[in-house]
Amino acid sequence: MSHTQEAAVPTDSTPYKDASMSCGHCNYTLKPTYHQAFELVRLQPINCYQCGSDLLLDEADRQVLDKKLHTATRIGKLALLILGPYFLISLLATLYFMFFAKPPFPGFSGVLFGGGLVIGFLLKSAATDSEERDFVLFKQGKRPSAQTQAA
Ligand SMILES: [Zn+2]
Repeated sequence: MSHTQEAAVPTDSTPYKDASMSCGHCNYTLKPTYHQAFELVRLQPINCYQCGSDLLLDEADRQVLDKKLHTATRIGKLALLILGPYFLISLLATLYFMFFAKPPFPGFSGVLFGGGLVIGFLLKSAATDSEERDFVLFKQGKRPSAQTQAA
């Protein structure tokens, strides 16, 4: 069972695609990994690939990202809890109807697996926050004062 759990936990190098981030100093579009996204939440700066600034999120943005990551993690665990047993039962049911009994209707096992895919899809869309957000990162998370006044 351990290998399935590892597959669901994003590794350090998994790209974090649920939010777009850019460098506030050179406008470079950052493509952070999950590891870096978690680093940002923990107030660990990430380095801009282009201008080399140590970048942090604005405190308000940091909280939004924190919430996003936690929702995704929670739903990822939930998906394992639901889909693991679901596919196991589907597999057993498929084998059972293949060898021991007539299926209730043709294509029964296809429906079982299709149902699993639907559940997977629903969980995936629940995990991905519908709220699209562009995070702009600055040194120490501080927006240059000129831009704060502009808003
Ligand atoms: Zn930069």
